[in-house]
Amino acid sequence: MIPAIETADRGTIKQFQEEKLQQLLAYLQSHSVYYQTLFKNHRIDIRAIRFLEDLTRIPMTTKADLQDHNPAFRCVDTTQVADYVTTSGTSGDPVLLALTDGDLDRLAYNEALSYQCMGLQRGQSLQLTTTIDRRFMAGLAYFLGARKAGIGIVRVGSGVPELQWDTIARVQPDALVCVPSFLLKMIEFAEANGIDYRKSSVKKALCIGEPLRTPDFTFNALGQRIRRHWDIQLFSTYASTEMATAFTECEQGVGGHHHPALIITEFVDNDGNPVPEGQSGELVITTLGVEGMPLLRFKTGDIVQPYYEPCACGRTTLRLGPVIGRKNQMVKYKGTTLYPPVLFDLLNDFEEVENYVVEISSDEFGEDEITVKVGVERASEDLLLKIKDRFRAKLRVSPRIVFASIQEINRIKFPENSRKSVTLVDYRK
Ligand SMILES: [Zn+2]
Repeated sequence: MIPAIETADRGTIKQFQEEKLQQLLAYLQSHSVYYQTLFKNHRIDIRAIRFLEDLTRIPMTTKADLQDHNPAFRCVDTTQVADYVTTSGTSGDPVLLALTDGDLDRLAYNEALSYQCMGLQRGQSLQLTTTIDRRFMAGLAYFLGARKAGIGIVRVGSGVPELQWDTIARVQPDALVCVPSFLLKMIEFAEANGIDYRKSSVKKALCIGEPLRTPDFTFNALGQRIRRHWDIQLFSTYASTEMATAFTECEQGVGGHHHPALIITEFVDNDGNPVPEGQSGELVITTLGVEGMPLLRFKTGDIVQPYYEPCACGRTTLRLGPVIGRKNQMVKYKGTTLYPPVLFDLLNDFEEVENYVVEISSDEFGEDEITVKVGVERASEDLLLKIKDRFRAKLRVSPRIVFASIQEINRIKFPENSRKSVTLVDYRK
């Protein structure tokens, strides 16, 4: 059953969130050293913050705040902590977050809703192809959510396509939780080893970490490439450790659904002002129901577009389109403003391209420079021209393209001690 609030009208959802906001503000006032200080310094009387529109009176919280004042954000003492996690540290040092027992229940509820969006039923099963340890919140959330939803789970962990296929044969899972580019590796392995993957039990995949769709919700190059080989249902999900919340697509595939009980969303421009409704902006979030480290008006750095029309699945909550880019990764290149995912999407379209990294640097005049390092079996002038032409067609200009060995790219892509693979190296500043 879809929670009633997710099919309510917008006014009801807004009022519901405003009540939750009151509870959060009272909780922060009594438990959070960071927000106590912030309220005091900015003379904010929390009783005056009654409507969602009033949030703009409160200064936003940045990743740097979270890094610089980490202990001040924690609202519980160590005896109440059930689990510690860190952010992925894509930009800067990873930040430590503490979760209580209640926070783990909240995560489980959130991910159970994700599985519900995917149409997974009690009694079905799924295979986890991401890590559950390494201080990774999402892996644990997938496990706890499956428990809550009555879905069986087998924890294979990341990598090792051979073990993934062995497990699929033994367990017959209905769905995978995976990084989409890893699905391509699994398909490649299956084809090389005569595994009839199209006849396997797997019919759905919950895809994390990389976008699958373009802003008009058609599959991007990565999504198309997977579907060309393997006609399974792909569900994109967008989440982060700080949000402790996932936005997962339903079967309509028109953006990740917002769960009003878990998080408040705002969309702001470069100056921090709300963008006109329906325009893309930086996502700013306020967590609801979090006990360990709740966040108020946290700037995610992600540029996304919200959609407000009710969805054909029956949910009326807003939907988030694919992440257009990270705010601090915006590149101004020869008169064009772009976000690196546009480059990734284009490179993902080439079957000949085994792997790649994009490097951004500043030239002597402070202008942005892009170098694309491409890993291929056989480098050729033909392929180079093909890639350059595609860039020119899409962006008017082509960045510098350098061929390298697949191993060399892999060394850059998979640094030791990193949970995530690296696709972008930003040398600016
Ligand atoms: Zn829907």
